[in-house]
Amino acid sequence: MEKIAILGSTGSVGISTLKVLDKLKGYKLDCLTAYANLKLLVKQANRYRPSFLGIAKEEDYRVLIGGLKYKPKNVFFGEEGLKNLCRLKSFRAVVIAIVGYPALIPLIEAIKNNKKIILANKESLVCAGKIVMDLLKKYNSQLIPVDSEHNAIFQCLKRGDSAKIKRIILTASGGPLRNVKMQQLENITPSQALAHPRWRMGKKISIDSATLMNKGFEVIEAMHLFGVPLNKIEVLIHPQAIIHSMVEFIDGSILAQLGVADMRLPIQYALSFPERFPSSVSSLDFSQVSKLEFALPDINKFPCLSIAYEVAKRGGTYPCALNAADEELVRAYLEKKIKLTDIPKIIKKVLSRHKSIKNPKLTDILNTDKITRELTKKLIRKEKE
Ligand code: MG
Repeated sequence: MEKIAILGSTGSVGISTLKVLDKLKGYKLDCLTAYANLKLLVKQANRYRPSFLGIAKEEDYRVLIGGLKYKPKNVFFGEEGLKNLCRLKSFRAVVIAIVGYPALIPLIEAIKNNKKIILANKESLVCAGKIVMDLLKKYNSQLIPVDSEHNAIFQCLKRGDSAKIKRIILTASGGPLRNVKMQQLENITPSQALAHPRWRMGKKISIDSATLMNKGFEVIEAMHLFGVPLNKIEVLIHPQAIIHSMVEFIDGSILAQLGVADMRLPIQYALSFPERFPSSVSSLDFSQVSKLEFALPDINKFPCLSIAYEVAKRGGTYPCALNAADEELVRAYLEKKIKLTDIPKIIKKVLSRHKSIKNPKLTDILNTDKITRELTKKLIRKEKE
């Protein structure tokens, strides 16, 4: 039995991971954590009875304990608690499905404690990709990406040397606004932007998909994960979302990974790697697929994608600043404080004021995140005036 922890078990990937584990033999759930969805965490805990639990806020501790029908060995809370939890020897594999920047510190702690990391968070790599990759090497820890595109590339690279990559082709469904006219973008409501045509996901990533910032982040994520220069990573719009990404090797051969758009597939492969097991995900019925379409992304309509490329090229703390600004702006948009088109507009303002630090240390990353959020909030307030 491999003992496993899920950080962020109440989010979309966390819930899908539990569904995978329900069918997969050989794994025992040892730890669950959640940010704010206490009700669901209590329900999950009572069902799976993990030895360890984690929550974000200390004030939720009593409510959590009060709802439990069993006695866990320990319950952790807060950032320090999450760090201590990642140091537990009890489990070896950890699924990091926390939303956004807060995944960074637990990810680093998991690497330092030699866990097998199943990473479903891209913001940590966007903010501190080099630091994370250097630590992985130093501690000889293993990281398997769950992001469907990166999981696809990871699978393709099992059949070819990463030193022989000619280019990586990151596919993108194009999001819910692919066919919306540019002039209409500023009137798009959060509920329209959240209606992704292919994937059911959390709110943050759904808005990032609507602006194509998600794809921009994935370019940065791929650059770090696979050690490939930016000019070898291309984005290709593929609305059917059947090809999850492709790798072209130096001889011109292209390998792709295909399948239905269901996160249980990449999650299960990441869990079972290097093994493959049967799954309850349905087979792709090619007779129902009339065509596979491809197009280049419209960067005039979706400037977030080119901003991400530019930021990746500049390096330093620029990607971290981009992420912090985006997280604040997505929240403000969901709270209807700004328009969708204000997201790239304000990001540009934030980046123009950012003083980047070359070869940043972790403290530089933490500091950049903090000051950029403050600046972004200030610019959001100004926008409303
Ligand atoms: Mg993805």
